Amino acid sequence: MSGITIAAPAKINLGLDVIRRRPDGYHEVRMIMQMLDLHDTVFMEITSEPGIHLTMDLPDLPTDEGNIAFRAADVMMKRFGIREGVRIHIEKRIPVAAGMAGGSTDCAAVLDGMNSLFKLGLDRQALMDIGVTLGADVPYCLLRQTALSEGIGELLTPLPALPDCPVLIAKPPVSVSTGHVYQSLKLDESIRHPDIDGMAQALKAGDLHGVTGRLGNVLETVTVKEHPVIEDIKKIMISNGALGALMSGSGPTVFGIYDNEASAKMAYEKLSAQGGPAGQVYLTRPGKNCGF
Ligand code: ATP
Repeated sequence: MSGITIAAPAKINLGLDVIRRRPDGYHEVRMIMQMLDLHDTVFMEITSEPGIHLTMDLPDLPTDEGNIAFRAADVMMKRFGIREGVRIHIEKRIPVAAGMAGGSTDCAAVLDGMNSLFKLGLDRQALMDIGVTLGADVPYCLLRQTALSEGIGELLTPLPALPDCPVLIAKPPVSVSTGHVYQSLKLDESIRHPDIDGMAQALKAGDLHGVTGRLGNVLETVTVKEHPVIEDIKKIMISNGALGALMSGSGPTVFGIYDNEASAKMAYEKLSAQGGPAGQVYLTRPGKNCGF
């Protein structure tokens, strides 16, 4: 039986606004989500031996129910009464616990892979309905294109992709808990809400500067205070020619958007120099919309 290979892209938030905390504890958000070329690779094949056989090339991640990719396969097996087994191997390239939806995108890839391998015939919406039960970012990762994300992340409106440009990613070696960041967020009048609608218009106009002039993430008010290294990285990106730099998701990853390769490479060298503030540094580009 032949297997399949799926690219599972990372995301950044070009804009992230929190509208309110709902009585059930979830936060209502308005976010502009952009995929990147940077991706994990997921290999999957059917096995005659029942069960889920998950391996990863990163030793520290769980390979059982603790891994959201395992849970994705498990949900599909139970829901569709699948008797055979599945072997899954993930090559992890997206920084972990970084605000780049690394787990959610693996989860989405496995949902997609189970649908194809076992010929379940589910459409994208059906996959998204299952995905949202596994994580708020999973429906977006199944869409695989630039989008406005609302509600708790499940209401998605596709947008044109960010015009092609170098995107520098730097993850400082600090851990951030998404739950803690949202819990600590104070939604008072001191918060500067990003212009999400203006950014969506700029994307529709293919206006790179219109997008970079509107970068904003309300969660920076929490994470940057706790980890000032994020601000240091932003400053290095800006002083080396970035049009704009911002923390992605709940952090701690910072991205910088450039309009030329030379500046982006110079900033890459500075940030990846030994003893610098960033632990993991990548030079990538926006992902292309796949047009579902
Ligand atoms: P988001 O942007 O959706 O909040 P993130 O990029 O901040 O996600 P992840 O990389 O998804 O965070 O990792 C969060 C936690 O989930 C990690 O501590 C890790 O142990 C666990 N985890 C479970 N499965 C995976 C997976 N397949 N890839 C990465 N982390 C995983």
